[in-house]
Amino acid sequence: MNLSWRQRAACRGVDPDIFYPASDDDAEPAKAICDQCDVRQACLEFALANRERDGIWGGATERERRRIIRQRRKSA
Ligand code: SF4
Repeated sequence: MNLSWRQRAACRGVDPDIFYPASDDDAEPAKAICDQCDVRQACLEFALANRERDGIWGGATERERRRIIRQRRKSA
């Protein structure tokens, strides 16, 4: 799998704890960084493909990723 997108991640060097908030309400700081990230879509697809359970990936919380997976299943 090509992981070169990670080199361009806006979250490189940022405290990883930000990306593992205690609740969705605390996810805004991480999402704000993802909003500025050039590789957001690649990151999100990686998390979806790998069923990443925890943390913010591609600007989406765990709950939001589950929703995306459900929606894709429905429209597949
Ligand atoms: S989308 Fe967010 S979590 Fe993914 S690489 Fe970019 S900044 Fe990091």
